[in-house]
Amino acid sequence: MTAEPPLSAELALERAADAGIHTLRIPTPFAVGRVNTYLIEDEPLTLVDSGPNSGKSLDELEHQLAERGHSIDDIELIVLTHQHIDHIGLVEIIVGHSGADVAAIDRMVHFIEHFGEDAGKDDEFASAIMLRNGIPSDVVQALRSVSAAFRSWGAAAKVTRPLHDGARLEFRDRTLEVMHRPGHSPSDTVFWDAERRILFAADHLIKHISSNPLISRPLQRDGEEAEQERPKALLTYMESLRKTRELPAEIVLPGHGDPVTDHVALIDKRLEFHRGRAEKIYGLIAEQPRNGYELAQALFGNVAVTQAYLTLSEVLGHVDLLLDDGRVTEHGREGVVYFEANG
Ligand SMILES: [Zn+2]
Repeated sequence: MTAEPPLSAELALERAADAGIHTLRIPTPFAVGRVNTYLIEDEPLTLVDSGPNSGKSLDELEHQLAERGHSIDDIELIVLTHQHIDHIGLVEIIVGHSGADVAAIDRMVHFIEHFGEDAGKDDEFASAIMLRNGIPSDVVQALRSVSAAFRSWGAAAKVTRPLHDGARLEFRDRTLEVMHRPGHSPSDTVFWDAERRILFAADHLIKHISSNPLISRPLQRDGEEAEQERPKALLTYMESLRKTRELPAEIVLPGHGDPVTDHVALIDKRLEFHRGRAEKIYGLIAEQPRNGYELAQALFGNVAVTQAYLTLSEVLGHVDLLLDDGRVTEHGREGVVYFEANG
């Protein structure tokens, strides 16, 4: 059997449209630009993700639905791919118009239903991690106010259909298999149409940017306190990517940008990039012990200040690879963690 060449992005979108899947590109206030939501013309009439909570996003969504002969009142089901606000913000408003069901992986339910409160806890968690890794408290404070300001682009919503990992979402014309693939966020879920070899992957795999495995507060389930240990987001993410690599996908529909039609090659490229970056960080640590903030500054310069949490998440993810391999050890010094190369 010879491998067929990957489809062009254009052809992939055409193929998806033939399967009743239409990409609606909704504006966001974030650096990432527009977010992809997907309209599935099936029974139930479904949206995968919603776009952020803003009037402009809602207008665009309504406009793009109207181009396909629908209104938001017609939506019967909203399927959520993960907890980030550019994907969930409009859910409550759409449900208000349509009474649509909301489906999301079970471990995300608490977060979605208690959005404001849980997002606040995320900020506290992030602050503690930044301080422990050497980020100055004035930078931490500044980031907290930015994050609090962005929170209005999210909103709480009720999840009416909690999904288990491995569950099947049945439609009239298709079945989507639910797969939990944490890493970019703890709730990342991909939806697999085995018959058509189409994967809804959201931010788990994006063609033009390496999805940042953000260090996030572990998800809390009802009646449980979240564990407080720092999650190893990059290790988790790489494990998830390896699982996705095994799927015989032809078209991967991402949360931003064009469809991916060569996911194996793209995943290999990502895995290689992370290993390369870990080597670079090992070199810096071998020169002298450094904390996370110092490593981020050495790698990213001033971006380590303006995007302190993002760059720290990057660095700690790669340090986790080195810790996991036993090449680096961590030591506390006056409440800050330093990394040291093992002789
Ligand atoms: Zn996103």
